[in-house]
Amino acid sequence: MELGELLYKGKAKSIYKSEKDDELISCFRDDMTAFNGEKKDCFSGKGAYNASVSAFFFNYLEKNGVKTHFVKMLDERTMVVKKLQMIPLEVIARNVAAGSIVKKLPFKEGQILNPPVIITDYKDDERGDPSVNDDLILALGLLTSSELKEVKETTLRINKLLYDFFDELGMVLVDFKIEFGRYKNGIILGDEISMDSMRLWDRETKESFDKDVYRYNKGNVMSAYGKVVEKIEGWKKEHLK
Ligand code: 5GP
Repeated sequence: MELGELLYKGKAKSIYKSEKDDELISCFRDDMTAFNGEKKDCFSGKGAYNASVSAFFFNYLEKNGVKTHFVKMLDERTMVVKKLQMIPLEVIARNVAAGSIVKKLPFKEGQILNPPVIITDYKDDERGDPSVNDDLILALGLLTSSELKEVKETTLRINKLLYDFFDELGMVLVDFKIEFGRYKNGIILGDEISMDSMRLWDRETKESFDKDVYRYNKGNVMSAYGKVVEKIEGWKKEHLK
């Protein structure tokens, strides 16, 4: 399948037209950015790591009854996806307090959040992705109230599936960000699920295996991402014989 016209170039992915009207091609680049693009670098192989982890989780979620946009991989960094009408919301699930929630509210870093907390940010770089509550989501016409309920329930389901998965690998899924879009008559999971969009800690040492390694110069980000890929490959060998 050939890449069609470039439709959109995000911070880490480029989206192309495909031969089919209802599909797109998502190419995971090696670019890495943080702090709304203020910090920028390129790490060879990073796109392939994130693409493979995203593909794995989309498959894993589908097997567990969660609908996603994933169709198939074209090569190690290129994915065919269903064409969604994206909803401009970042839906964040948090199991442990870290990152912006610790800066904005009186939580201690590492504090367990049980039940998990869902936060919704309006996707708008120029406005700094402001948090929006349920009333604002409805007032902005981003979702209907039944869609909002569905998005939150699906997010909690995804959170439980991913949390339990990483728990088996000895890691804590601290938080993650997902995005949804409309497809035919429903709302399904789009975008990506990768180390760029989650916080993942070693259960014992609390070492980070995610973009915080890059954001806060905590070490070699490629070896951190590589560890996650390695652990998932190990899990596959055990479970997908
Ligand atoms: P925080 O609100 O603490 O900055 O982020 C919460 C979680 O959502 C983290 O796992 C973070 O990586 C993810 N996240 C928040 N905003 C973005 C974003 O714009 N892009 C990506 N890839 N992940 C994000």
